[in-house]
Amino acid sequence: MGKVYLTGAGPGDIELLTLKAARVIKKADIIIYDRLANPEILNMCKDGCEFIYVGKEDGKHILPQNEINEVIYKSALKSGIVVRLKGGDPFVFGRGGEEGAYLRERGIEFEVIPGITSAISVPAYAGIPVTHRGISVSFRVVTGHEAPNKEVSQIPWQNFKTDDTIVFLMGLHNLDKIANKLIEIGKPKDFPVAVISRGTTKDQKTVVGTLQDIYEKAKDLPTPALIVVGKVVNLRDELNWFER
Ligand code: SAH
Repeated sequence: MGKVYLTGAGPGDIELLTLKAARVIKKADIIIYDRLANPEILNMCKDGCEFIYVGKEDGKHILPQNEINEVIYKSALKSGIVVRLKGGDPFVFGRGGEEGAYLRERGIEFEVIPGITSAISVPAYAGIPVTHRGISVSFRVVTGHEAPNKEVSQIPWQNFKTDDTIVFLMGLHNLDKIANKLIEIGKPKDFPVAVISRGTTKDQKTVVGTLQDIYEKAKDLPTPALIVVGKVVNLRDELNWFER
């Protein structure tokens, strides 16, 4: 029986892959990957390595999660080293936990190789530190996939009244609802927001606005994109090193 590595591919820039991830990718017999993992990484594999695409985009799955779990499990039954490669970090909205549990129940050995999550690295490439002395003492990473007008929300919106940083992943299609909800709980209409598209790649694009106007400014950006809400967004004026 094989061993599965639940591996983070980092946010896009191939050099943000960890040494440990690179080591197992070079040895892999099967790589199971999705859309967010930079496909250039696959060039590192040894000859004869099999690639299985189980594409996943903003919560819309090409394969449902239970079938992905099964693909990983079957791969482990037939091969030595199976790398399950996921964009960013496998345990940050990556469903790596479910995959690990599925393997564990079936007696398949696995390891987790954390990756650099887009939640902090994409803002960093846009010149936005998620914390900053005197401006933000914490940051939250929140799913933007759930519509904020849902009757029973799992998201503690009332806790978002502070000025601290909130990063929404998978939220571009709910951008108007998220911005309105934050205004509704009492945040100022001119509170700073940035939307960063295709972060850490040559196609990176950042749009800065306020809760009031960000939707009109950013709604047509290509995915993947994330939303940063917080006063830290203003630091970009000085710190925007990558796009500059
Ligand atoms: N496990 C991943 C997140 C998966 S959820 C991680 O740790 O980064 C997918 C969401 O991540 C996308 O909808 C988008 O909001 C965000 N994302 C991933 N890569 C991104 C990138 N290069 N630029 C902007 N947002 C990105």
